[in-house]
Amino acid sequence: LSLYEAKKTGKGCFVFWQRSFLKGSTPERVQMESELREAIISNQLVLHFQPKVEAENGKIYGLEALVRWNHPRLGLVYPDRFIAIAEESNLILELDQWVVNAVADQMTKWRKNGLPLLEVSVNISAAHITRTGLIDLFEGLFERYPFLGDYLEIELTETAIMADPDKATVVLNTLKKRGVKSSVDDFGSGYTSLGYLKKLNANTLKIDRSFIDGITRDHYDRDVAKAIIALAQSMSMDVVAEGVETQAQWELLQSFGCKYLQGYYFSRPQAANIIEKNFLQPLVV
Ligand code: C2E
Ligand code: CA
Ligand code: CA
Ligand code: CA
Repeated sequence: LSLYEAKKTGKGCFVFWQRSFLKGSTPERVQMESELREAIISNQLVLHFQPKVEAENGKIYGLEALVRWNHPRLGLVYPDRFIAIAEESNLILELDQWVVNAVADQMTKWRKNGLPLLEVSVNISAAHITRTGLIDLFEGLFERYPFLGDYLEIELTETAIMADPDKATVVLNTLKKRGVKSSVDDFGSGYTSLGYLKKLNANTLKIDRSFIDGITRDHYDRDVAKAIIALAQSMSMDVVAEGVETQAQWELLQSFGCKYLQGYYFSRPQAANIIEKNFLQPLVV
């Protein structure tokens, strides 16, 4: 992110630039960045998938793809340790591109093997909204894999959307015409204007895990979760609660009218072969 871009995008990004400027000068960070560049090319990245289930019966209806880095020295590294580094350079564009293509490859394999296809959502970084290229990425993908149109969904965080809400609106609406659904991720943790929420035309709100955590003991968290569910309903959007870890949270969320859930209680994110074995039964012809 250049200083010019940082200034252009406002206050939040200036802080971001300052932070990256300081951190960017450490040798570990520079090394991590060049290793990550190598990792993308040499296929050290792997996808795990986490089921999303229907609250009514706990049945799986979709998956979220989550990237991990199989690091030659450090072992399995989680995205919280490398996404931010990738976001400070154009590497994030290559990383998101790798993820989208890897999801397409995986779904092609499942399809060839006669397994049922579920909706798969991919996380897309804010950089893809502010630096474009996302629409081209998906158009290229659908040329190669026409069947994918009905199964792909993107997740954009509330913060990513609000970094450039006008552009996010154009991008999400364009993708929607191509059949790509969208979710507003980590909802409740940022500051979305309700006017924008309507214009975005997103299909789903994902309630941030931080509220689900406290839902059985904290009135505030419970009220926020309820309010988000009501908001989604009033806008005819679906709502997913993420980070569900207990039966009590499941029951409470269901009683509030939340139709979709995701969390360790149902399944941790798992490698594709485990997901296959546990959740994808071959279609009987
Ligand atoms: P996210 O999109 O909010 O993803 C949900 C995170 O919560 C995942 O962490 C998931 O493993 C974790 N989680 C799910 N259920 C539970 C639960 O019941 N309890 C707890 N404590 N945690 C749960 P993960 O995989 O480490 O990913 C962290 C973040 O990294 C993601 O947050 C997302 O923002 C980013 N990320 C992950 N994969 C990608 C990717 O392919 N591309 C991009 N741009 N970002 C990604
Ligand atoms: Ca997500
Ligand atoms: Ca989330
Ligand atoms: Ca998150």
